[in-house]
Amino acid sequence: MHEMGIAEQLVKIALDAIPEDIENPRVEILNLRIGKLASVVEHSLTFCIEIITKDTALEDVKLVIEEVPVKIRCKDCHKEWEVDTPMFKCPDCGDGEIKMISGRELEITSMELAD
Ligand SMILES: [Zn+2]
Repeated sequence: MHEMGIAEQLVKIALDAIPEDIENPRVEILNLRIGKLASVVEHSLTFCIEIITKDTALEDVKLVIEEVPVKIRCKDCHKEWEVDTPMFKCPDCGDGEIKMISGRELEITSMELAD
């Protein structure tokens, strides 16, 4: 279950981002962007975060996950597509080289602190 490693990284980033001058900070919501190809199972990630945030400022934090679709762009004809699986050839011109432009994101976009 690779979600545990991801959860640990995300929690560390979130904890580091809490301003130091806040007394007893509590993070209510963590907004995440996760690409379809990052292969993160949402309920596993939620479960891991729940375990490791106990007794921290992130205890009971709610995860709001935005799933980022996989997008590819052809280097030859410059068309862009949204796809379900990675592709290696341009679906249009047939032999253009493909660049993946999104789908592997795994990042915190923002977090909301309780008052
Ligand atoms: Zn093309």
